[in-house]
Amino acid sequence: MNLQRVIERSVCRPVEITLTNNRTSIVSFKREEGRILLRIQRLFTEAPLEVILEIAELIRKPSIKTPLVHDFFRKNQWRVRKRSRVSDRIEPEGRVYNLREIFEKVNREYFSNEIDAVITWGKRSPKKAVRKRTLGSYNSETKTIRINPGLDCVRVPGVFVKFIVYHEMLHADIGILRKKNGRRAIHTREFRKRECLFRDYRKVLEWERKARLSGFCP
Ligand SMILES: [Zn+2]
Repeated sequence: MNLQRVIERSVCRPVEITLTNNRTSIVSFKREEGRILLRIQRLFTEAPLEVILEIAELIRKPSIKTPLVHDFFRKNQWRVRKRSRVSDRIEPEGRVYNLREIFEKVNREYFSNEIDAVITWGKRSPKKAVRKRTLGSYNSETKTIRINPGLDCVRVPGVFVKFIVYHEMLHADIGILRKKNGRRAIHTREFRKRECLFRDYRKVLEWERKARLSGFCP
């Protein structure tokens, strides 16, 4: 649906549309030399007709309430966040390790190729002191695995990186369950059981223990 054409037809004036990524001011407009200058949240390019028509009506009668517009935005708001994260660079190729290759290997060996996710090195943080200590993370909304870039280092054995990738892929496979009290159950008993199935599990834990003792901090 052509947003501009629908609104122009409805308000009987030329309309100039600017799409914004704004999350607070979702619709604003002003009249200028017989035209309407409309600034609108990008999500509305995918809004259904009745929502667009309500925007047109708002332009005609600025005092009306716009329940459909607000409802649409409230329901779709999460996609704004999703998009901005997805636009972060996906960089699986590190200086030492290629995460995509590791991911594919683990997917073949442990998950019958069934895990569908994006994998990337996380951003290197300029501030060492506040750098997150998490070795990896999985975002179920964007299906993205991020691995701490501190692991992309010759001192870190490949099998350890492989294990961290395996751990995050387990999250993708098992999903996040809700406990009865509504809190998230992340490392459940089933999770820990499957984690132990990693072929070099003991070796990996041993390396991590020694590395931490010697002050390794990614
Ligand atoms: Zn975990």
